[in-house]
Amino acid sequence: MSIIGATASELLGLMERGEATSVEITTAFLDEIQAHDEKVGTYVHVDRESALAQATEIDQKRSDGQEIGKLGGLPVAVKDVLCTEGVPTTCSSRMLENFVPPYDAHVSTLLKDADAVLIGKTNMDEFAMGSSCENSAFKPTRNPWNLEHAPGGSSGGSAAAVAANMAPISIGSDTGGSIRQPAGFCGIVGMKPTYGRVSRYGLVAYASSLDQLGPMANDVHGAALLLEAIAGHDPRDATCINAGVPAYSETVDQPLEGLRIGVAAEHFVEGLDSEVEAAVKQSLDVYRSLGAEVKDITLPHSKYAVATYYLIAPSEASSNLARYDGVHYGHRAEEFEDMVDMYTRTRGEGFGAEVKRRVMLGSYALSEGYYDAYYVKALKVRRLIRNDFDAAFEDVDVIASPIAPSTAFKLGALTDDPLAMYLSDIYTISANLAGIPGISIPAGFSEAGLPIGLQLLAAPFQEEQLLRAARMFERETDWHKRRVSF
Ligand code: GLN
Repeated sequence: MSIIGATASELLGLMERGEATSVEITTAFLDEIQAHDEKVGTYVHVDRESALAQATEIDQKRSDGQEIGKLGGLPVAVKDVLCTEGVPTTCSSRMLENFVPPYDAHVSTLLKDADAVLIGKTNMDEFAMGSSCENSAFKPTRNPWNLEHAPGGSSGGSAAAVAANMAPISIGSDTGGSIRQPAGFCGIVGMKPTYGRVSRYGLVAYASSLDQLGPMANDVHGAALLLEAIAGHDPRDATCINAGVPAYSETVDQPLEGLRIGVAAEHFVEGLDSEVEAAVKQSLDVYRSLGAEVKDITLPHSKYAVATYYLIAPSEASSNLARYDGVHYGHRAEEFEDMVDMYTRTRGEGFGAEVKRRVMLGSYALSEGYYDAYYVKALKVRRLIRNDFDAAFEDVDVIASPIAPSTAFKLGALTDDPLAMYLSDIYTISANLAGIPGISIPAGFSEAGLPIGLQLLAAPFQEEQLLRAARMFERETDWHKRRVSF
């Protein structure tokens, strides 16, 4: 079996049977990065020596007969928003260009405990603000299926890494769709767990009431395995729920009997690409053929989701990003006249245009006189959006929808039109506002050869059901088996 293009469980099988070592597997992926990443722009940091040293250590543990973690020897790519001790963590921003965290995020520690090999840090939209990876201060990432197109964002590097066979699994973060939308654009599996399922300790904050870390993989089983490794309680994140983590990878292959799938008319309106719509409708037929019942539901407040998100997320961002003042860490302007000038120049030089736009939008929405009219009102609408989901999940187990209104757009196509860029998150944002889990799975290709994703959403903490529902579909289809070749 070839290492490149294999799934996480296939690679683990190779290592368990002694047919490949972690060093061989890690080398194969590093070689792929060396050969092709100049074209794709997936990684912002790769340390070959360190990756191979980690792999050697794990191989040694295995040959000594020591107990091996769940990800024993698997390379994992990590979005550059997660702190990794001694390894640069830039958020693809000039502000943190030289930042090397002195500590590990909780998820970084869990990856090490699970014996994963950190193969590299991936490119992203600056501070996770964007939907195309074009807001990186360093370079855009390209869509591996067509290098003229965007991979989606903001976890575009983590999605492209898996799609371009430069890592079998990766970690992304999702505040308004940043795991699921790029997973859809790149034809892989990406999951945002329930708010509170995974610790955000050491995740550089964008919008704290929405941010969540999650797994990306080339099949549902890989996502289940990675979620199992990173989920669970951490007292250092006060929003992280103290509840047991089911063995997702062990139950994922059990199909769900009598699955009820909700479909909302609000998700199939003007602006939805006809090829995407057709693929989603065909996916529903696949579920019907497996005995699932497809039911109409209504999410009447979903039309307000984008507007609500673009008040709440920038408000929280404007507050979170106030810490980049040139004093504690990060960039500091070299020349300045006084303290205020130092702050102004530091932030002017360190942040890109989109980050500045968000800070200004957020500061405006939180300012006296506008706070009640904008921010508080957005919080109220957020509650109505959650109520819609609570009502829907009384009748259905999962909700199916497109992941994005179109397939991956061309690089540069939306950069001059922020509103059009924001609208590409129309299907993903509600899950963050409601705090519920969602997954994107490969569900087709357009005539132009670009992937189409199907989104499934579930009630809070129903990740196990969600993964099983996704895997049922995956087993009947072969969209997830297609691989990019350069
Ligand atoms: N595209 C959305 C934004 O720009 C979502 C980003 C994210 O989930 N991090 O805010």
